[in-house]
This record gives sequence, C-alpha cells and structure tokens, in this order.
Amino acid sequence: MATITQAKLPAPHRRAQWYLTRSGESYVNRLYAKFNLEYFDGRLPIYQVKFTSVIRYGVGHQAAGLTHRRTRTIWIDAFEVDQLGLMETLIHEMIHVSGPRWHGDRFADEAVRLTAVGAPVMDGDTITRSACRALGKFHRGERVEG
Ligand SMILES: [Zn+2]
Repeated sequence: MATITQAKLPAPHRRAQWYLTRSGESYVNRLYAKFNLEYFDGRLPIYQVKFTSVIRYGVGHQAAGLTHRRTRTIWIDAFEVDQLGLMETLIHEMIHVSGPRWHGDRFADEAVRLTAVGAPVMDGDTITRSACRALGKFHRGERVEG
C-alpha cells in the first residue's frame, strides 16, 4: 500500500484547486499527523493546516507558508507548492511549531536533525543565519516569521 507521502495527487494544473478542497485539507492534515509522529515523536501540539490563495505579511513579503501560534494554524499557499514543496513547507512550519520563531541557529540545528532522520527539508533551511552573513547573503525571514 502506498504511503501518504507517495499518494498520487491530481495533475499539476489541477493541484492548487484540489488543495483548496476538503480532500486537499484532509490530506495535508494527515501529513501533519504523520510527520509529527515520525519526526517529532508526536510531541507537537495539534495544529490545523489550511490552504489559502495568497499569503502576505509585513510590507510586500510573500511566503509559501505561515505559522500562526495563537490560533494554532499553519497556512500554506496552494498556488506556491507542488507535492514535494508542500511537504518541505509543512516541515519548515513544523520546525516553527516545535519552538524556533526565527530562522536562526536553533532553527537550522533542528533542520539538520530532521535531514538526518530523512525528513523532506527545504534547501536552505539548514543554513545558519551566521553562515548567511558570512556569505554576505540576506537571510530570508530575518524580520518576520514565515
Ligand atoms: Zn519560517
């Protein structure tokens, strides 16, 4: 039996609309539960994962995902993520749920740990802020949690 991470989702041109259906929402919430058990020992609180069409924060910033602690909601932009991107974005937001509010060294350390246990970690999430500075790069999300 195929696991949820190998589930066959609708074709790319129909996927964003599917994410926005109840089936899409059910899928991503089952993914959250699976990742919580597999990669976080089930210790993350229950969050609702919801799709939306555009995530904007601050002035002129856009993100594929956003964690809202007060309402325990993770928002994911349905039009920004393919199947792998959805999993990587979810893991990114779950790192925020686990503790780190910013993309600093604690965040990167957790991303390194998750990579080692086989989680789908986004390129760049394992790079520390100080490493970015050393490379003369602006570290995304320095101002606002995303
Ligand atoms: Zn973030």
